[in-house]
Amino acid sequence: MTTKGGCLDGRVAIVTGAASGIGRATARRFADEGAHVVALDLKAPEAPAGGLGIACDVADQASVESAVAQAKERFGKIDVLAHFAGITKDALASKMTLQQWDDVIRVNLTGSFIVAQAVAREMEDGGSIVLTSSRSWLGNIGQANYSASKGGVVSLARTLALELGKRRIRVNALAPGFIETPMTDVVPDRVRDKAVSAIPLGRIGQPEEIAAVATFFASDESSYVSGQTLLIDGGRSVGVGLV
Ligand code: NAP
Repeated sequence: MTTKGGCLDGRVAIVTGAASGIGRATARRFADEGAHVVALDLKAPEAPAGGLGIACDVADQASVESAVAQAKERFGKIDVLAHFAGITKDALASKMTLQQWDDVIRVNLTGSFIVAQAVAREMEDGGSIVLTSSRSWLGNIGQANYSASKGGVVSLARTLALELGKRRIRVNALAPGFIETPMTDVVPDRVRDKAVSAIPLGRIGQPEEIAAVATFFASDESSYVSGQTLLIDGGRSVGVGLV
């Protein structure tokens, strides 16, 4: 395999949600760091040079297992999983339909389990799994489904870290705050302004700033870090409780 001299030189990395936002920025960053990127999304995304793009629904076990098999067949191994695919269907809990609840839990939480399980079975010993929680796991009005799904991801990462440690596989989770992507484009200006006013750094984050932390978790730079969830929220969570 060709190498480029980055911290992920020659690694094979599966990135989900790679067509948009944080996943796309991470796929690009991983490729810049020398990884061969297998980019997954509902519609086959354009993969960075030397990579592979595959259409995959993370909520569908057969679809995920097929994508993982294609990645293994093409590159012979899997070293890294960075899992970003996710959705929101916001409503106050009093008005939330069971369908809104089920859809978000299915994609965000069950999808994380499906992807992590399928990749871990095929992953090299010593690999790294990066899941995506959210600052909302602490609780967020209008996001009972999303917050619960992202809280579940924190627990999933911790449990997988315990179970996969014997294979030297590390499992960590990202918990972004307010990041500028298509997912947050729909947030009304009034809500956005209020959110920004509560962020100590005084601005919304960029997808590349999450990709940088994903790169840290994916690479040997975090070789003794496992089972952790890192808030990447411009300091928003500081001073508002136990976390
Ligand atoms: P985004 O721009 O909407 O990207 C998410 C991607 O996931 C989209 O390409 C989407 O495809 C894809 N996707 C949705 N359902 C899928 C499925 N079942 N199978 C495969 N792919 C699927 O969102 P983002 O802001 O980059 O979010 C990435 C992750 O970060 C998510 O897990 C999100 O919850 C988390 N996060 C984001 C923020 C933020 O402020 N942006 C904050 C905290 C956490 P379609 O567009 O076709 O639906």
